Amino acid sequence: MEVFSDGSTRPVSPIYCRDASPIGGGSGDSGSSGGGSYGGNPGRGDPDPDPKIEPTDNFLNNAKLNCIWEKLTKNNSFNNYLKNFDQDFSTVDLIFDTSTNLPNNVNGRTDNSTSDKIYIYINENTISQKPVLGVARTIFHEAIHAELFRKVRSVNNQISIDDFPGIYDYYRRYLKNWQHQQMAAHYIDIMANMLKEFDGEQKSDQYYKDISWSGLYKFNDKNNPGTLIYSTAFSELSSTEQQRIINAISNLRNNGNKICN
Ligand SMILES: [Zn+2]
Repeated sequence: MEVFSDGSTRPVSPIYCRDASPIGGGSGDSGSSGGGSYGGNPGRGDPDPDPKIEPTDNFLNNAKLNCIWEKLTKNNSFNNYLKNFDQDFSTVDLIFDTSTNLPNNVNGRTDNSTSDKIYIYINENTISQKPVLGVARTIFHEAIHAELFRKVRSVNNQISIDDFPGIYDYYRRYLKNWQHQQMAAHYIDIMANMLKEFDGEQKSDQYYKDISWSGLYKFNDKNNPGTLIYSTAFSELSSTEQQRIINAISNLRNNGNKICN
């Protein structure tokens, strides 16, 4: 339960991410039905009490993810973004894992329902079909969800306007869609910087911003499951910008390099 400073309350957890970018054909980032569980976290009794960021064996045993992880861990902007998970004050670990139970149109999912861990699951069924840059984008997207969840946890799920005014504002305005709406409005540049560094700055800043909109320009309405909505931030762009973004996302999906080396 989330308690606002005016005394009103709303449930805050769990809010599942379904970062959904279709692997082909579809035009939308369609998250399907809400809720449900996804196979859980078998045998992951972590004896180490120190908060940290950790990939699972399943994650590292996937050759493509392993290769991407090697690059990610050299990514200064990525490491810097997640550094609060590694601090003494953090009470939650961030675990990178794979899932074979996600729908094909879902790239990844961030699970905030475990007491001392946040899990990021990457859809292993479809990863071979995904461009490397797209997989990195999914990981960054989910990492932002995780960091937002960490912030909410850091104040015992009780957000006030005094500690995280941005989250407070977006939660009040958008309820269960607060994360995607906030990310669309305020995190495109952060994602673009991570992608630019990951990709060795091969393309323009505009390109990395454009592809960062995947999963953020249109997403499943968590307040009205089964319905796709456009983010407010995307809706406010010109039709020319919107089309450029959609084209860049589609082009990466269809033509992006799929081999990590
Ligand atoms: Zn998401």
